Amino acid sequence: MRAAILTVGTEILFGQTVNTNAAFLSKELQNLGLNVMYHYTVGDNPGRLKELLAIAYRDCDLIIATGGLGPTQDDLTKEVICEYFEDSLVEFPQESEKLKAHFKKAGYRWTENNIKQAFFPKTATILRNSVGTAPGFYLKKDKKMIAALPGPPREMKRMFSEELVPLITAESREAIYYKIIRTFGIGESSLETLLMPLIDGQTDPTVATYAKEGECSLRITSKRETLEEAKDEVDRMIDKVNRLVGQYIYSYDDEDLNQVVGKLLLEKGISFSCCESCTGGMLAQAITEVPGISAVFDRGLVTYSKEAKMSELGVKAEVIEEFTAESPQVCAEMVDGLKRKTGSDLCVSITGIAGPEDLSEERPAGLAYIGINYKDETRVITSKHRNVSRHWNRNYMLLKMLNEIYLTIK
Ligand code: ATP
Repeated sequence: MRAAILTVGTEILFGQTVNTNAAFLSKELQNLGLNVMYHYTVGDNPGRLKELLAIAYRDCDLIIATGGLGPTQDDLTKEVICEYFEDSLVEFPQESEKLKAHFKKAGYRWTENNIKQAFFPKTATILRNSVGTAPGFYLKKDKKMIAALPGPPREMKRMFSEELVPLITAESREAIYYKIIRTFGIGESSLETLLMPLIDGQTDPTVATYAKEGECSLRITSKRETLEEAKDEVDRMIDKVNRLVGQYIYSYDDEDLNQVVGKLLLEKGISFSCCESCTGGMLAQAITEVPGISAVFDRGLVTYSKEAKMSELGVKAEVIEEFTAESPQVCAEMVDGLKRKTGSDLCVSITGIAGPEDLSEERPAGLAYIGINYKDETRVITSKHRNVSRHWNRNYMLLKMLNEIYLTIK
């Protein structure tokens, strides 16, 4: 399959924005076994964009455009693609509802020009934007495909991986097979360094790393004549990946960590309770997303105040006094108290500093203690995260708890 990348934005032509989108997409498409034939860049000019579109359409089977999807006057990509493909722009009611709900939730003032983001070519498939507001879209005409993705790299990358890759592989004439492996506890650059012996000079299968919030994933892809061959190649590569970074892997099937943990608890019949301070019930919420979990999940307590820690869990006032509420000692008392109260096979506690302000230099936001009581043995683990924001700190604490549970019962 021949592919062209069409990046839209006057700031790229002016050199104010380095065209990292084109570099990312080229690498990715090559990983999927596609031949990238052209990179085109054009400013926010509808006439020239249409001319380039015609050239790309003539020469390639797949065109991926990025940029110009936003709500402002100079965001023209959608309109031009629609005109070129002789389609009509119509409102997608589901998208306008989502957009309005998003504005309301975020407390932004709604202005009518925003509705533009809910209009798409009538025959388009919507590509969900999981980290921003402007959705992308995908169109097919005469066996040729065009996708329009947002300009901001973070949004573009997520949309490409989550939404577009499955569509491209489904359309490919060759058999393309890929697996997504999820890891926790290692940063993207360290993961890539450990995998370098496999990544360096790779042709097929290919291994690519991606950073997500608080974790990293890997995509292993093979393009072969038959699906069986491609699957075999991917499986062989997974073995090699496993030997290098197996200790960080929690899913070979792109499953979320809460689902993996919930299934393991169910499979092994391990009863479970938790008590949370800084995460305010996030663990209980995540675990109860797993269908059928009532068979093993007893309770989740949010023991936020010192009083709640004392009255619900029997934490001693003098321990809080001596070590503070956000200490390993209190964390251990919390989990032991929960064990006495519930008798669950596995009890988990957390206390820490959600932020955004540090309590002191030694007690920064993002620092938390996780208590695990399993088989009547109590351990306290320190969780440290660079203080990004309260949201990110707490999200990392949640993942860290889930990962510790996973490692404990695996
Ligand atoms: P928005 O909704 O933010 O307006 P958009 O889809 O309209 O998104 P643009 O307005 O074209 O996208 O670009 C938004 C920002 O994304 C740019 O200011 C730039 O920082 C970044 N960006 C756009 N195109 C590229 C590119 N090709 N490579 C790297 N960054 C890019």
